[in-house]
Formats: sequence, structure tokens, C-alpha cells
Amino acid sequence: MLLLYHGVHSHYPIDNYNSSNALKKSARKKLIERLDTLVSIYIRRRDGECVICGSKQRLTNGHVFSRDTYITRWDLMEDGNCHCQCWPCNYRHEFDTYPFHTWYRNRFGDEKFAELYKRYRTIKKFKDFELEELIGEVELKLKCLTE
Ligand SMILES: [Zn+2]
Repeated sequence: MLLLYHGVHSHYPIDNYNSSNALKKSARKKLIERLDTLVSIYIRRRDGECVICGSKQRLTNGHVFSRDTYITRWDLMEDGNCHCQCWPCNYRHEFDTYPFHTWYRNRFGDEKFAELYKRYRTIKKFKDFELEELIGEVELKLKCLTE
């Protein structure tokens, strides 16, 4: 997380880090929160149950690879980085990635797993307007899913 933020904001000179940048940052934070919320709703509706244990209680959006990398944080693809997990399975993944990673590899194959990891390791800096575009895309997909 720290590394990424450092990367994203490193082009601002330190002495230029004034209140307008602080404002900009909080608007950006809101965009990110909105995306997190929308993607979580989408993933939980799409999968309907925990992909690991089948529970339908306390569902969350689980990330195969950590959500620190934006390029795979809001990944709606079937074989993407986001899949529904119940809260206990999601919590377990924090310190034991084996069950979720094994599930992914069994379901989509080792090649897809390697591809996903490669994508996850790709640094892409999202501009605010790109985050806004993404929000629009997720809203549309969510609408299609519920219709
Ligand atoms: Zn579970």
C-alpha cells in the first residue's frame, strides 16, 4: 500500500503539497471507496456464495492477490482477481493464501494463475478520470447483472 501511494504521488513536489492537493486526495479517496463498494456488490451478487466453503453468510469480495494493486483490485472478469468469500474464509486468506490460491488454480488452471499474478505485478497509475470511467463501467455491469 505504502509503496503504491508513494508511486502515485511521487510526481508532486514536496513543497507543492498544499491544501488543494489534500482536497484532491480526498476526492480521489472517495472515488476509490465508491469503486470498492460497487465491485464488492457486483462480486457478491455474481457469485452468490463463498467460493471456498459455499457459505451464504457474511459475504465479502475476496482478492486472490492483495488489493494493494489497483489494476487487479476491481477485477470483474470471471477468471479475474475478485471472487466472493465469506468473512471467515476472507480473513483466513490474510495469513494463509493456500486455500484460495488452490481453489483458483483448480478452477482456472495454472496458466491463468500465472497470468493473473503477472497482471497483479503490473504498475498502472490510475488518474481520477480513469477511476470515474471505471465507476461507470462497474455501474453498467451491475445493472446488467440485476436485470
Ligand atoms: Zn467461506
